[in-house]
Amino acid sequence: MIIIMLGAPGAGKGTIGKRLAVQLGITHLSSGDVFRALTKDNTKLGEEIKECINGGKLIPDKLAMQIFEDKIVKYNLEKGIILDGYPRTLMQAKHLDKLFKNMELKVDIAMNIDVEDQLIIDRIVNRRICSNSRCGEIYNLKYGKIPKVDGICDKCGENLIQRADDNEITVRDRLKIYDENTRPLLKYYNKRGVLWNVHSAEDTSIDDIVHQTMIHIEDMD
Ligand code: ATP
Ligand code: MG
Repeated sequence: MIIIMLGAPGAGKGTIGKRLAVQLGITHLSSGDVFRALTKDNTKLGEEIKECINGGKLIPDKLAMQIFEDKIVKYNLEKGIILDGYPRTLMQAKHLDKLFKNMELKVDIAMNIDVEDQLIIDRIVNRRICSNSRCGEIYNLKYGKIPKVDGICDKCGENLIQRADDNEITVRDRLKIYDENTRPLLKYYNKRGVLWNVHSAEDTSIDDIVHQTMIHIEDMD
């Protein structure tokens, strides 16, 4: 089962993607985590990526495609994978299709989490993540998963931090970039008959979305 997660920044791709991966027993690979890990290296490439991320811009296609191709071919994809945040442009989607075709695979589900812009902004400015990259648990000070102790990860006890790009100004830019570059992918995957759309409102529970999606997957078999 190959699933790609679409949806604007802060739509819940990471949180929902991780939950689905556990239920399906497959790997969850977040493009943001992959690129953020590269910024920790003191290299020219790391610096270039850091500048893009912190400014809310996309990593140039050529670079993103190369990094992801190297990453994907290393996984055993027999059971499947959840790609969260990749592809994000038509060029990346076409490149990924070609790559999968060579491996005799295809995207089974393109899951889109549809959330209104105002709710996204409110969620993102209240988002906190665990500073321990091996943990990376995602919290929100207002919605859903609120940390039990202020500023501390429930799971591993490390400090919680706010991502440099999780501020209102950068979020508005990221939403615009999403509309221009990533939204066209909905049509692309819809044409292929693999689009799975879920609406997430303020009172929609993550459990509900995960549950609905698992039923959808079972119905596909
Ligand atoms: P979310 O809030 O759901 O995590 P996001 O888009 O805000 O979504 P990430 O997915 O963590 O955040 O991505 C963070 C940044 O990494 C993006 O703003 C962009 O700079 C870069 N990035 C991630 N995936 C891609 C991609 N497929 N192509 C180009 N740049 C990417
Ligand atoms: Mg993410």
